Amino acid sequence: MTSISGSVPDTPPPPGLALEDTDLWDAAVSLLRRTYRSGRHEVAAAVRTRSSGIHVGVHMAGSAGRTSICAEGMALGAVLAATPPELSLADEIDTVLAVLHRPGIGMRIVSACGVCRELLFDYCPEAWNYVHRFPDDAPPPGTPEAVYLPETGRGIREVPALAPGSAERLRVRELMPAKNVRSW
Ligand SMILES: [Zn+2]
Repeated sequence: MTSISGSVPDTPPPPGLALEDTDLWDAAVSLLRRTYRSGRHEVAAAVRTRSSGIHVGVHMAGSAGRTSICAEGMALGAVLAATPPELSLADEIDTVLAVLHRPGIGMRIVSACGVCRELLFDYCPEAWNYVHRFPDDAPPPGTPEAVYLPETGRGIREVPALAPGSAERLRVRELMPAKNVRSW
């Protein structure tokens, strides 16, 4: 496994991250620095619980698309393993945070994908979660932009997934405003 521990400088927490959640940021960043592998392990999550501390999980990509498992799901499984049966995950889980690494860019908060939003809503709708906000004046990633290329004098590239931005703390249920609660 290729570790990035020695090649990537520490990334400071982004604006918007609550001071009390710095330890979650540190836990997720530390795990991803240790486990990162392009295309396989690119996201790490950290979950704060009310009685068993912080638990982490890392993204596991598989060669067949649907076999991939997000970091948030892995971290929830770790929380469950540490939670006494008389306690519910909804009561135990306080905050969920995930980070993404991009070579040459660094670490940033990554918003939960649609599948993870569903999962988090099922198990901890009142928990806090962080989303990444791009700067207001930044074009969305993937947008074609004109750039200067020394060899030609000009060129076009897609806007990369920029690291700069801020973190915004929301309740999980706020990520799913139109979600109907169902019993299951
Ligand atoms: Zn996900």
